[in-house]
Amino acid sequence: MPEQIPESLQQKIEERLRFYEDLGIRLFYRDRRGSPISTGGSHPEISNEPAVRAAREIVVPKPVELPNAGVMRSLGRSEPVISPSGPSLFEAVDKVADDALPKIREDIGDCTRCKLHKGRHKIVFGDGSAKAQLVFVGEGPGADEDAQGLPFVGRAGKLLTQMIEAMGLQRKDVYICNVVKCRPPENRAPEPDEVATCSPYLLRQIDVIQPKVIVCLGAVAAKTLLQTNRGITQFRGQWLEWRGRKLMATYHPAYLLRNPNAKGEVWKDLQKVMAELGLQLPKKKSL
Ligand code: URA
Repeated sequence: MPEQIPESLQQKIEERLRFYEDLGIRLFYRDRRGSPISTGGSHPEISNEPAVRAAREIVVPKPVELPNAGVMRSLGRSEPVISPSGPSLFEAVDKVADDALPKIREDIGDCTRCKLHKGRHKIVFGDGSAKAQLVFVGEGPGADEDAQGLPFVGRAGKLLTQMIEAMGLQRKDVYICNVVKCRPPENRAPEPDEVATCSPYLLRQIDVIQPKVIVCLGAVAAKTLLQTNRGITQFRGQWLEWRGRKLMATYHPAYLLRNPNAKGEVWKDLQKVMAELGLQLPKKKSL
């Protein structure tokens, strides 16, 4: 009798494989050694179907060598990729002595500094490791985040979590935050006054964490940190310098939910980030 895999595990495997397939990782090898349903063939089976019902070990291909991984293009130096379109939002932000995440949260308090406070339930400060080497910056909380007080916990958040796990990391290894900490009504983009009011706290969060790499998820985060009006497609996937740190902009997970074909592009961007952080794609994925 073939070994039965519990349905919940099977669903998890299928979901994970669909995600890898969406990223453009298509070849999955089933290790038949010792498998009760082995047909005895000597070559691993190559399968495109979600058939991996009986898969026991999934081997994810090694990352492609990226010729430009780790090469930084500088902002405002000899090879400017982007020039800020106006005076920097951040010039006026003073360094806070002995700053720390709890202190920043305390300073935000029960904030009423901008109009977003009127509709919010919870302030979504940020989540993850205060010592993370990698910080993801999103746009602003949605309904799920507003209800739970945590960033990226809705549908887009689940996709972000899968992306982080595909990098061989867990959410607790990175830090996740947003440009604005209160939910904009009807999930509209945050307005310039809201961004201007809230982003100094984001800046302080990044300064405290001192990550090696910042990944901007979507145009709002990228345009805010880089202070540019240029479209994200013009600089997505390129290493940029931001206040002495490496920054890369990629598409927002919510965009990927609407445009799954773009997942492969994002995966390429994240592989550059992995190379920069010295991370290897997990060789074997045991589910
Ligand atoms: N989208 C964002 O930009 N941030 C969140 O926290 C959730 C969804």
